Amino acid sequence: MLAATHAVVGAMIAASVSRPELGYMAAVVSHPVLDFFPHWDLHTRYSQRTKMAILSTSLTDAAIGMGIGWWLFGSQVETTTLFITMFLAQIFDWFEAPFHLFDWHFAPFINIKRLQSWWHTKLGLPWGLVPQMAIFALAIYFAQVN
Ligand SMILES: [Zn+2]
Repeated sequence: MLAATHAVVGAMIAASVSRPELGYMAAVVSHPVLDFFPHWDLHTRYSQRTKMAILSTSLTDAAIGMGIGWWLFGSQVETTTLFITMFLAQIFDWFEAPFHLFDWHFAPFINIKRLQSWWHTKLGLPWGLVPQMAIFALAIYFAQVN
């Protein structure tokens, strides 16, 4: 999934739990669960990109998601809790980043990379993006009714 999608799901989780710690755990678990569904993400054409391009697109992706999560749920969840939960929802992608950016092809980064490759199911456009758009729509709805 896009890092943005992970963040928005993290924000929804933060807004649904009574205790922040429950949200943190659920956010970490949500990552592989979401990646298991066939999806499109920015990693698709990794090999043709410079490291700078990978870094900027990944950070933009992550930041957009956190921005949307904060915009939708910022009034419902305490700010620090909200951002920690969104960050934890993306955590595996953050841990994988040094493998790609700094060529740190050793533990734990290589293990995270292998783990993620194993549970990721890729799908091209547009169908790989449709469920993620549905998640954004659900988040907008949930932010209103919660
Ligand atoms: Zn992932």
